[in-house]
Amino acid sequence: MLNERMVGLGTARSVIRELFEYGKQRAAVVGEENVFDFSIGNPSVPAPPSVNEEAIRLLRETDPVLLHGYTSASGDNAVKSTLAAALNARFGMDYTGDNLYCTVGAAAALCCCLNGLCCPGDEFVVFAPYFPEYKVFIEGAGGKMTLIPPEIDGFQIDFAAFEAGVNERTKAVIVNSPNNPSGVVYSEATIQKLAALLEAKSAEYGHPIYIIADEPYREIVYDGVDVPYIPKYYANTLVCYSWSKSLSMPGERIGYVAVPNAVEDWELVFAAVAGAGRSLGYVNAPSLFQRVAAACVNDTADLSVYAANRRLLLDGLRGMGFTCVEPGGTFYIFPRTLEADDAAFSERAKKHDLLVVPGSGFGAPGHVRISYCVPTARIERALPVFEKLAAEYR
Ligand code: PLP
Repeated sequence: MLNERMVGLGTARSVIRELFEYGKQRAAVVGEENVFDFSIGNPSVPAPPSVNEEAIRLLRETDPVLLHGYTSASGDNAVKSTLAAALNARFGMDYTGDNLYCTVGAAAALCCCLNGLCCPGDEFVVFAPYFPEYKVFIEGAGGKMTLIPPEIDGFQIDFAAFEAGVNERTKAVIVNSPNNPSGVVYSEATIQKLAALLEAKSAEYGHPIYIIADEPYREIVYDGVDVPYIPKYYANTLVCYSWSKSLSMPGERIGYVAVPNAVEDWELVFAAVAGAGRSLGYVNAPSLFQRVAAACVNDTADLSVYAANRRLLLDGLRGMGFTCVEPGGTFYIFPRTLEADDAAFSERAKKHDLLVVPGSGFGAPGHVRISYCVPTARIERALPVFEKLAAEYR
C-alpha cells in the first residue's frame, strides 16, 4: 500500500510539462526553429559572471571541509548577516541574521512557512491567477486552499470575493507579486487595502492572519514599477525569496524565509519555520550557494532581454486584437483567449506549433500564459504565427 496522493503527484505531469514535452517531440519532427514553445518559466539568460566567479573563488579559497560541510540549519552566520544588511539597506528593515532562514529555493521557503504555521483545520487563501504548486504545498502541509477568483480587469484583488473567503480558520494569505502567471505587480493601494482588511479580520478572530509574501520575481520589473515591500505595510508578514529568477540559477536551489521582528512572537514563528525545515528533511540550504548568493546579493542577471521580449509581445498581440493586462514584471503575459474555452484555444494554437498554457490551471479560465523567457528571435518568428491564429477567429 502506497501513499496514493504521492503516487498521484509523482505520476501526473502538469499541463506545462505536457506542453514542454510535446514541444520537444515536435522539434524532432519539424525542427526546433519551427516550434514556438512558450510553456515553461525557465530563465533563458545566463547567471551574471559574478555567480561563476564567486563560486570558483569560493572553491579555490575556502577550506573544503567548511565549504562542503553542513552549515547551521538556518544558514551560515556570515551569510545571514550579509543578507540582513543588504535587505536593511534596500528596504529600511531592522533584520539581523537571526531573522533569516536559508532554504532550498522559494518552493522550500513556502513549504517551511506553510508547515510551520498550519494547524488542523487551517485554511490558506490564494488569489487567482496563481502558481499551481501552491495547492500541492498547502495540502502537503495539511491545510486547505481557499481560492479567490480573479479580478479580471487588472489582476489586482477582488476584495469582495476575498472578504467572503476569509473566516476564523484562515491562517495565512499567500501574496505573489510580481505574479506568476499574470505578470502583474500589486499596487501600493492594493497592499494597503489588504493590510487594513487583514488587521481588522485578525482582531475580529482574535489571532493573527499572516501574509506569506512569495517574491522570487521581485527584481524582474519594467518601466520603473515599484514592488511594495509587504512587511512595511503589514506586520505579520513572512517573506519567501529565491535567487532562481533574479540570478538565473533555479537549479542551485537557494532562497530564504525572512521573519521580521514585527511579526507577533517572531522568535516562536521563526522556530516553527525552522522546525518545519527540519521535519521536511532539508537539514540546511546548499552551503556553496548560500555563500555565492550572499556575495552576489546586489547583482542580477542581464534582464534586458525580458524587457525587449515583453514589449514585442505586448505590442504585437494587442495589435492583433488580444486583450492583455499590462504586466509590470516577471517574464509572463496572460492575455485573454479569443474563445471562452482556454483549453480549446491552446489546442488550436498547438496546431500552429505555438505552445501556450491554458489559464484554467492557474484559476483564471479564458486566458493563456505565455512565458517569454526565450530568445527574442523566437518571439519575432512567432508573431506572424500568432497573427495566423488570431485571423482564424475573425
Ligand atoms: N513561486 C512562484 C510564484 C514561482 O513561479 C516559482 C517558480 O517558478 C516558485 C515560487 C519556486 O521557485 P524556486 O525555484 O525558487 O523554488
